[in-house]
Amino acid sequence: MNGENRRRKTAAVYGFLLFVSLVSTASAQQTADWIWSARYVITEDPQHRVIENGAVAIRGERIVAVDTRAAIDARFHAAQRLDRPEAILAPGLIDTHTHAAMSLFRGIADDLKLQDWLEKYIFPAEAKNVSPEFVRWGTRLGCLEMLLGGTTTFTDMYYFEDVVAEAAKEAGMRGVLGETIIGFPAPDAKTPKDSLAFTEKYLARFRNDRLIVPAVAPHALYTNSDETLKAARALANRYGAPLVIHLSETKKENDDELAKRHTTPTQTLDSLGVFNGRTVAAHCVWVNEADMAILRARHVGVAHCPSSNMKLASGVAPVTRMLALGIAVGLGPDGPASNNDLNLFEEMDMAAKLQKVTRMDPQALPAATALEMATIGGARVLGMEKEIGSLESGKRADLIIVRLDRPNAEPLYDPVSQMVYALKAEDVRDVMVNGKPVVRDGRILTLDEAAILARAAEYRAKISASLK
Ligand SMILES: [Zn+2]
Repeated sequence: MNGENRRRKTAAVYGFLLFVSLVSTASAQQTADWIWSARYVITEDPQHRVIENGAVAIRGERIVAVDTRAAIDARFHAAQRLDRPEAILAPGLIDTHTHAAMSLFRGIADDLKLQDWLEKYIFPAEAKNVSPEFVRWGTRLGCLEMLLGGTTTFTDMYYFEDVVAEAAKEAGMRGVLGETIIGFPAPDAKTPKDSLAFTEKYLARFRNDRLIVPAVAPHALYTNSDETLKAARALANRYGAPLVIHLSETKKENDDELAKRHTTPTQTLDSLGVFNGRTVAAHCVWVNEADMAILRARHVGVAHCPSSNMKLASGVAPVTRMLALGIAVGLGPDGPASNNDLNLFEEMDMAAKLQKVTRMDPQALPAATALEMATIGGARVLGMEKEIGSLESGKRADLIIVRLDRPNAEPLYDPVSQMVYALKAEDVRDVMVNGKPVVRDGRILTLDEAAILARAAEYRAKISASLK
């Protein structure tokens, strides 16, 4: 090739490249699997942006952009889209404490003290009824209720937690799922030693799952020996798993521990090393300043369960104080046997109002804080704030659309206030978890709703008969 030819060829190549780059600039759109848009996008990002006429672009399991609808449409071409001009688009709600399978015990006994309720009804009913099949149908019922109500992640403690994980995956729901370890014969293990062995197998099976974070769940200080609690922590740390536990739910729990060892449950667990690793502590109603200093120093996340605490008359957790100290606090409905539903809209509303009335201060827990607790705050409790809890590029695509075309949504002055004080779980219209739509127009896409409801009615008859 002579010099002239080489120059001509080089010029032709450059010309071709220029042409390609011009063409791609003209259609510089990136691809996305989904664009979801709404009248308001509540991001819960660090700036707490609320975007009017906003949209979210999703590729695979993740969010790739959050912006105005015009900006998203200019940047992305999506294979599918969902536009809801009369709705709020928000992060999926995060439940930091429940027992989903106990949905089958909903309303079995109400208006009792926790100890009576547990010892006279729940423990006997569990001993006679809880099996893998019970847990499968109970969890399906729980996941159905949670997804239809906008909860995309739940934190669970129960028996046969491997079956809970299977049911959650079937529902397409994210879960931090703790296998319960308790110091008396349980439906899935005769001794704590058996229970620890069961838990280890479970952790090994689900440790790298896309939707499930397997966890170790010693029921409480008062239901386990010190040795079991230490072994549970060691097991959790060997697998990099979180530990979930009930803590200082009732005054009795504190009084008993103070009488026994002259320390609070929080101080005892700390001295046993139970907080040496990721921990989620449910309730923390009866914690004092020294306890809160420990929770803060050990980065323990707190699951506040206002409806359950009110119904069982357990007391009022010092949520405002914990938040001021920088402790991560999320929300949980607790078990549907005590609450009696799995409704984070209700928990947001209750959390705000319970602090206000207790402190005689309407500013004690504002709407924005309640919504934060149900989203990014809950993610912090679980140590998952880099993955879920807000609508930001790079995060997992867990989102909900809440309708604004019903009487309880009009007029609208402030979308955040509306979410906490006016909108209901029934207003949730569409839900996506990990990039996959699981609720569309108020209908579940992943589970057989009619079969689940029919089976729940069958269990009611069986459980009632077992208690006679
Ligand atoms: Zn609980």
